Amino acid sequence: MSKPLINSEDCSACGICVDTCPNEVLAIEGDSAVVANEDACTACGDCLDECPMGAITEIEQ
Ligand code: SF4
Ligand code: SF4
Repeated sequence: MSKPLINSEDCSACGICVDTCPNEVLAIEGDSAVVANEDACTACGDCLDECPMGAITEIEQ
């Protein structure tokens, strides 16, 4: 199963991925998005598609 990995150096903390995720996996902490609730991720890929900064990649779990 693939889960999102956020590159905090590329993230602008816009919050689009947080709003996009149907399972409330992502959150903004400080100046970056973080994977706050990884167990709820269904690896749908929507957050990767919506991130305007290309800051989200997938990692195999
Ligand atoms: S892959 Fe889907 S479920 Fe997982 S964090 Fe991204 S939008 Fe949420
Ligand atoms: S959509 Fe991308 S740039 Fe915006 S908060 Fe999420 S990871 Fe950061």
